[in-house]
Amino acid sequence: MVEKSFIGLGERALEHARVLARRGRGSATQAEAEAARYVQEVLAKLGVEDVHQQPFRGLRSLWLFLALAFGLALVGHAAWWMLRAPLGTWEALAVSLIAFGMSGYLLWRKFTFRSYPLQETLPHGLSQNVIATIPPQGEVRQRVVLVSHLDSHRAVIWYANDWLVRAYTLVSPLVVWGVAVAPLLYTLQAVTGWTVFGWLGAVLGVLHFLGWFSGVTADLGPYSPGANDNAASVGIVLALAERLQAEPLAHTEVRLAFTGCEETGCEGMLALLREQGEALKDALFIDLELPGIGERLVYLPVEGVVRQRRIPAEVERLVLEAGKEFGLQAAPGSAAGYFTEAGAAWEHGFNAACLVTLPLGSNLLPEWHRLTDRVERLQPEALGRMGALVWAVLGRVDGSYTA
Ligand SMILES: [Zn+2]
Repeated sequence: MVEKSFIGLGERALEHARVLARRGRGSATQAEAEAARYVQEVLAKLGVEDVHQQPFRGLRSLWLFLALAFGLALVGHAAWWMLRAPLGTWEALAVSLIAFGMSGYLLWRKFTFRSYPLQETLPHGLSQNVIATIPPQGEVRQRVVLVSHLDSHRAVIWYANDWLVRAYTLVSPLVVWGVAVAPLLYTLQAVTGWTVFGWLGAVLGVLHFLGWFSGVTADLGPYSPGANDNAASVGIVLALAERLQAEPLAHTEVRLAFTGCEETGCEGMLALLREQGEALKDALFIDLELPGIGERLVYLPVEGVVRQRRIPAEVERLVLEAGKEFGLQAAPGSAAGYFTEAGAAWEHGFNAACLVTLPLGSNLLPEWHRLTDRVERLQPEALGRMGALVWAVLGRVDGSYTA
């Protein structure tokens, strides 16, 4: 059951999502900028005084980054298979290791949310965050940042149906970790002379081809309308802003971060941390993802593409306490291959939690990166439930100082 006032909040969130999800909002595109403008106008109408845009240059396609990284891995495979005859085994291995090393370094830096070599060779464009601050009634003793991203992902074939998503989730860690395993296999072949190692390496080569091919072709298709991912979250945060304007907290300042370029590697979040990290060192970041379909509220306990990071213990305790009445639980299944802005914050030493809604009987993210991620599928009750949970988290943070 969702309390009545939060059903109203869910309906208000849906109205915003309806405007935002009229079309796809690619990272660092005109449509993303329009979404930012809409959010800014709504906040101004609500009377939020401190609203500004933070412009930054953002990556336009995560898939082109993957094409670059896996392309370097393919060079590593090719060096082993094609250079041994003309150059000799050890010379070919050396070239191969250099190429795999570069590929691995790029993946490591990108997915630990740090700058990486060759990043300027990839297409970038103007992107922006909208950042607003809602002050408390009294002095500021604590800060919470509500995070929701403005952009939507390419509707790449791998997300098109449940079976493809399952295959993608299963295979993508293999493709990523294959960049470390393949050079090991080729080294073993060089040392032992056993060709079986080389053939195992070649199997990874096929996966890397698949990764590279997906990367170079992904941007030929349209963007997902991104209703559940993530217009729904933006809508909830806007609806919460309205409520906070009417009922400000006692001693907790709430910042709202509507971010650009999340889908290409949390670049808006990183820009925010660069600009305001010092002031937000002790803040709690609450990141909303796909909150509009389903009945089960979950938080992500672990995430990471190249290394797994865990939610800080005190943050986990807080969201579990606040979420008790909503049946909040840790998200089931493996987090390998996923990243969110909460994980990007963890990587840089910040306190964050990512909250998601799942349907009963399925652990797949509803409508994730699909063309069918349209506003008609959103459920106002689900939006209201997530809004109520975030409100409870805010109340708990604020209560710890007013009690
Ligand atoms: Zn998202």
